[in-house]
Amino acid sequence: MPELTFYPSIAESKDNWDVIVVGGGPAGCSAAAAASRDGARTLLIESSSALGGSGTNALVPAWCPFSDKQQIVYRGLAQTVFDAARKTIRHVPESWVDWTPIDPERLKVVYDNLLIEHGVRVCFQTMLSAVIPVFGGIDGIVVTNKAGLARLNAKVYVDCTGDADVAAWGGAEFSKGDDNGDVMPATHCFILTNVDDIAFEHVYGNGTSLERTNSGSAIYKIIDSGKYPLITDSHCCCTKIGPRTVGFNAGHLYGVDSEKPETLARASMDGRKLAAQYRDALAEFCPEAFSECFLVATANVVGIRESRRIIGDYVLTLDDYLSRRSFDDEICRNSYFIDIHQSLAEAAKTDSMNAEKIQPLLRYKPGESHGIPYRCLTPRGLRNVLVAGRSISCDRPVQGSVRVMPVCLAMGEAAGIAAAMASKSDGDVHRVDTKVLRHRLIEEGGYVL
Ligand SMILES: Cc1cc2nc3c(=O)[nH]c(=O)nc-3n(C[C@H](O)[C@H](O)[C@H](O)COP(=O)(O)OP(=O)(O)OC[C@H]3O[C@@H](n4cnc5c(N)ncnc54)[C@H](O)[C@@H]3O)c2cc1C
Repeated sequence: MPELTFYPSIAESKDNWDVIVVGGGPAGCSAAAAASRDGARTLLIESSSALGGSGTNALVPAWCPFSDKQQIVYRGLAQTVFDAARKTIRHVPESWVDWTPIDPERLKVVYDNLLIEHGVRVCFQTMLSAVIPVFGGIDGIVVTNKAGLARLNAKVYVDCTGDADVAAWGGAEFSKGDDNGDVMPATHCFILTNVDDIAFEHVYGNGTSLERTNSGSAIYKIIDSGKYPLITDSHCCCTKIGPRTVGFNAGHLYGVDSEKPETLARASMDGRKLAAQYRDALAEFCPEAFSECFLVATANVVGIRESRRIIGDYVLTLDDYLSRRSFDDEICRNSYFIDIHQSLAEAAKTDSMNAEKIQPLLRYKPGESHGIPYRCLTPRGLRNVLVAGRSISCDRPVQGSVRVMPVCLAMGEAAGIAAAMASKSDGDVHRVDTKVLRHRLIEEGGYVL
């Protein structure tokens, strides 16, 4: 086999941006919109061809709750996106703000419109490829796309890659996974169409009776039958996302490390086979709803729940979570429970009775939430980089909570405002006046205590 050879020529862009946001998931979209809204010349680069991150490209089928069961907690741009997205879901009442289904094609357009309306420049199919460090900061980034390699420069970079690629490559310290570096399993989400809507609602409680928490769920019968050998795991969440159409977040793929592309390739291939087995198994074991169903799509990318967590000026801890702590510099609230999907090693050593006793402690009562301080977004030792989304500075249990989309949207907005502020001075994100930042967030409808 001949060796592959590349002949890159790095073109330096003449443009100097105020803010470059890397990654167009929930955090990146709200960060870019907020930065541009506050007057920063803002570029967003995204490796795929659509905005929305896991909620679109990974086909995650539902929003985690937007409320603390008393009021909406994730406001400002988060609520703007959510309101626009749920208007496209006609089969659930408008009052339904918790676990609202996602129509991924419509959600992509909601994010497109958000960035267009806010004047953000966007490059798709553009991958961050290298970071050019300069003492305690970043001088530029190198991206790859069909135009070749290009160097881009900004005063401030907002890392919304979900994996903290910018910060880590720029030299920031980070943690990853548990003490052994094991991360939560991935899931390759998929969509089934031609589902009998009425049976899905009345026989399967809109999917709730298929969940692992129901000991009578068909998923246990499927596993016990041994007829579908790839289905070994009782994780089976699904929701109706459109007429005769059900989105699945089901099954776990272990040992997937987003820094190791070959593990992603294996997971994608295994995930596609697994989805096909789910289709056939559901058709056999849940025929009322699924006998004629059709596997119309598996996600473009495997859904990654966990990778790097940066070490920021503050590390949000389980103790902060349990004490519902508020902070002088908090930029949003979070009320989602601690939702850790165990790695194989963890599952093997978990005493399930003990887990049942601990679980309720990790859920808040109605009306409860904690704050997320701005300092969790500022990587220690990097002057002009902010991180928003699932890789902020927190311990592992807290990452199991703050990783979900509503809170990523809310932190993204704060990061965008802060990036715009820093870009107007010396670019130092650690010196942003958090009183002014919080004032701007409140002006824009954000929720902080
Ligand atoms: C299987 C699964 C189920 C989930 N279920 C739910 C749920 O039910 N409800 C919920 O609210 N949340 C859920 N989550 C969590 C949630 O979807 C993600 O954690 C959340 O989307 C993270 O947002 P983010 O903006 O930080 O990153 P992401 O959504 O991951 O977006 C990151 C973006 O950056 C881009 N990117 C990454 N690296 C680069 C690079 N080097 N160059 C250019 N672009 C890059 C990616 O293409 C992507 O678009 C689930 C997650 C998974 C994986």
